[in-house]
Amino acid sequence: MARKKFVCGNWKMHRTGAEARALVREVRAAAEPFCDRVDVAIAPPFTALGVAAEELAGSRVGLGAQNLHWESQGAFTGEISAPMLVDAGCRYVLCGHSERRQFFGDTDEWVQRKTRAALAAGLHPIVCVGETLPERESGRTLEVVGRQVRAALSGLTPQQVGSLTVAYEPVWAIGTGKTASSAQAQEVHAALRAILRELAPSAADAVRILYGGSVKPDNAAELMSQPDVDGALVGGASLKAADFTGIIQGANR
Ligand code: PEP
Repeated sequence: MARKKFVCGNWKMHRTGAEARALVREVRAAAEPFCDRVDVAIAPPFTALGVAAEELAGSRVGLGAQNLHWESQGAFTGEISAPMLVDAGCRYVLCGHSERRQFFGDTDEWVQRKTRAALAAGLHPIVCVGETLPERESGRTLEVVGRQVRAALSGLTPQQVGSLTVAYEPVWAIGTGKTASSAQAQEVHAALRAILRELAPSAADAVRILYGGSVKPDNAAELMSQPDVDGALVGGASLKAADFTGIIQGANR
């Protein structure tokens, strides 16, 4: 099944409001010509969502957030809810990025709650899964990502599964300059697709599975030429408009 490619930039904890405004302008101008063939989104930090939404008004480049809390409001100091993200202009939200799992205690159960809260608010979740280096080296990659995706998607209707994206991001490849080979990525993406077929047979073929982990303009096209690699989740390279555009061009090939 032909799936439209999707490239999403994760800015992590980078860029003030003024810096974000300048970068969004550049990204919008460079990315828009590709939006017929490639879906493009950026996920700036919470504090820059307002200026990013202003700069993206009327654009086909989508806005996303990097995290959310599963409650819609309440005494949860420092947290941001799904309805607040919708209000800020977001269409997408990352759920369970490995840096959240590693440094902030996100568990499989929390990722499931976040995914459900995002869907309930009408956001499009990007559910992130991935193995650490010791897990890969001990041959547990498919077991780990399988557990993560089953947990995140458990209890969802096929329609809900059809309105989310999965991102496979090997932890050892994030921000390290090491990339999974296209064959390694395809192996895991195909396994994830098989699990999606089990969980939601009618929706699985439409779900996009992104690869993330040191994607750059020079490796993007090769990774995305694989049958189950439907786009990229891009960290470092999304902070430079030229590099991000190079990756979008790779998706367009
Ligand atoms: C990410 O943070 O999702 C990511 C893939 O980072 P990088 O591209 O910098 O490895």
